[in-house]
This record gives sequence, structure tokens and C-alpha cells, in this order.
Amino acid sequence: MPMKKNVVVLNRLAPDLVERLAEHFNVVQFESGQDLQSVLTSVPVHGVIGAGRQLGRRELENVSELEVISTISVGYDNYDLDYLNERSILLTNTPDVLTETTADLAFTLMLATARRIVELDNWLRAGNWRAGLGSKYFGCDVHGKTLGILGLGNIGAAIARRGRLGFGMRVLYTANSRKPALEQELDAEFRELDGLLAEADFLCVVVPLSEQTRKLIGQRELERMKSSAILVNIARGPVVDEAALVEALRSGQIRGAGLDVFEREPLTESPLFALDNVVAVPHIGSATHETRRAMAELAVRNLELALLGGTPLHMVNPQVRAG
Ligand code: NAP
Repeated sequence: MPMKKNVVVLNRLAPDLVERLAEHFNVVQFESGQDLQSVLTSVPVHGVIGAGRQLGRRELENVSELEVISTISVGYDNYDLDYLNERSILLTNTPDVLTETTADLAFTLMLATARRIVELDNWLRAGNWRAGLGSKYFGCDVHGKTLGILGLGNIGAAIARRGRLGFGMRVLYTANSRKPALEQELDAEFRELDGLLAEADFLCVVVPLSEQTRKLIGQRELERMKSSAILVNIARGPVVDEAALVEALRSGQIRGAGLDVFEREPLTESPLFALDNVVAVPHIGSATHETRRAMAELAVRNLELALLGGTPLHMVNPQVRAG
């Protein structure tokens, strides 16, 4: 029987998935507090599965047997793709299974920010509801407004569908390329970024983080938005210049922001926390029981296929297999 390959598991997986991995591989569990590089070099590691860790030259240069990284996420900005390509290390990810759940969260943030749900929940619990609520605490409508999607990909389209079909919103978008089918399905209209910023009542940021999108939304862009507009970021924190966003929220340059992602994560302190017009949650876009389970299963499947001689279902850099 051939020797089992070694696989490092970065996060906690459900016991049945660990058992499933153990049928074919020697499983090495990485525990928080351990030194990642030591774990990756403790045995000849052939596969890594998990998310939330930066992996590039520094972490991997001594992991000479590594064949595949199976990330339990759709975004892959944590990985140095150029380095993985140079080493012919395959990267697999988990798109599709998290699309609807992440779109749900984008809409939750839009609604919660527009209707000031967190602020008024805190106000109520503090015992302030002694008389009628003054207009000072009114929110703004979501239905019928203009929804601007920055990045009309899988998740962007799922947000746009909710907006168009559920809330009667007008949909505008930008992307690298035009999306004729979605334009037809959702009456969506393409805009260059500046046009999107100027017209959107709700701007949803859904582009992957890359060198092209880092700080794509900065002071200049925030100044182009309506003062009544709400920004929602469920993509990656560094796509928005956070210091500029804080300033725009403080000064009333824009009305509010719903944020799932931040420049630094995890986040324990931030000037954003002092602002009532911000709804902030700890990167929970895909964090439901059902979706996290589906993502983990898909990542396990990708890993098995990559290491046991099949074709993984979702490959970020399939070209490394051709060589
Ligand atoms: P996707 O299907 O690849 O869509 C990305 C979209 O962004 C595409 O429409 C792409 O345009 C567009 N885009 C890329 N670069 C752009 C640029 N410079 N300017 C304008 N548009 C640009 O990805 P997805 O599945 O929707 O996921 C999007 C991102 O959301 C992920 O990369 C991840 O970082 C983030 N995410 C976050 C969470 C969370 O927990 N908060 C969960 C899931 C995903 P083209 O189609 O024309 O190339």
C-alpha cells in the first residue's frame, strides 16, 4: 500500500470530516498558539486545508513536498499566487456554496444600516423609550432606491437579484467586463466607477482584493458619493481606505456604512466603533452552520481530488497542473 500523504488542517473541522481525511491521509491538526512554520515543517506536508492564514514564500519555502492548498473560502488574497505558481502548488477554493449566504449578509447590513437597527436596539435596551420616537431617529428607505454593485460577480449578482426582485431597486453595476445576461435579467445598467459612486443610494463593495482593488474606494471616491448614501463592504477590508471612510462617516460625507470586513482582522479597537452610523460585524459573510459545512465539505473534496489523482472541483491556478 502506498504511504499516506500528510495533510495539515489549519482550522477546526467537524469530526466526521477529519475522519474522512484520515482514511487517506495522516492528519496534522494546527492548534492556535502553535508556530505555523514549525507545524508545516514537522513532517513532509503534501496538503494544507483551512483559511485565515497568510501563506507565501516565508511560510512555505521549507515545505518542499507541498502539492495543494485547499482554502475554505472563495477569496484567496491570503495566498501569494505568484509564489504558488512558481512552485507549481495548486490552490483550490470554495465558490458558489457561499454566494447566497454572503448576499443575505450584504442585504442584512444594508437594511440594518438604513433602519438604524443596532443603534436603536441599544437605545431601547438603555431604557430610552419613554415617549414617541422623534424624527431624529428615523432611517431611510431601501425599497425603490438605486443599488450600486461594485463587482457584479457571483455574490454581486445575488445581491442585485435581492435588490431588484425583492425590493424593486434600480440596479447599477461596474465590473471588469459587461454582463449582458444580468443586464437583461435585472434591468441592470453598467456604469464606470465614478458614475456608480454618483448615482448609488447603496454602494455594495463585492470585488476581490488585488493590487488593482486595494484602496479602490478612498477619499476621492467617497467625495463622489451622495451624502445620503450608504456603503456596504462585504468583500475585503483593504478595498476601502478605512481612515478615509471614518472621516466621511464623521463629517456626514456619506450617511452610513455596513461593514463585515476591515483593514486589519481580527479587530478589537477602531474609531469606527464610536460611530452610530456604522453597523459592524466580525467577518461573518459565510458564517452560517449550513454554509460553513458546505464550504468545509467542498474544501475536503478538493483536497482529496488533488492529492489522490483526480481533478478538484474549483482550481484557482489550474495551469500549474498542466506543466
Ligand atoms: P467573483 O464571482 O469572482 O466576482 C468578482 C467580481 O468583481 C467580478 O464581477 C469581477 O469582474 C469584479 N472585479 C474584479 N476586479 C475588479 C475591478 N478592479 N473593478 C471592478 N470590478 C472588478 O467573486 P465572488 O464569489 O462574487 O466573491 C467576491 C469577493 O467577495 C471574494 O473575492 C471575497 O474576497 C469576498 N467574499 C467575502 C465574504 C465574507 O465573508 N465577507 C464571503 C465570500 C466572498 P469580471 O467578472 O468582469 O471579471
